Amino acid sequence: MPEDDEQRIFIAIVCTDKGQHRRLRLTTARLLPSERGMSFALEHFAPPMRNAAPSSMVSRESYTFICPKCRRSPLIKAEAWWRLLEAWGEAGHDEFDISLLP
Ligand SMILES: [Zn+2]
Repeated sequence: MPEDDEQRIFIAIVCTDKGQHRRLRLTTARLLPSERGMSFALEHFAPPMRNAAPSSMVSRESYTFICPKCRRSPLIKAEAWWRLLEAWGEAGHDEFDISLLP
């Protein structure tokens, strides 16, 4: 039986602008069966907001990450984000670089 700790529960969300700047931690994602969340909302990322104004940077169904260093602000659908992180954690990674997002 594999040990529980092979499945990562905390994943550091960082940006390096594809290696162009020093690793900057934006948030930490928690991948618990009962709880999925990230700290520092609105500082380094915006969660999906149903009533977001169409003109704002905030999306109705996607997370928007904001790197204060390189101004990169990738957008990813909430469902896709957690699916990706889950697979990432299962593969044993404990860090995800948002500059890898398309
Ligand atoms: Zn960056």
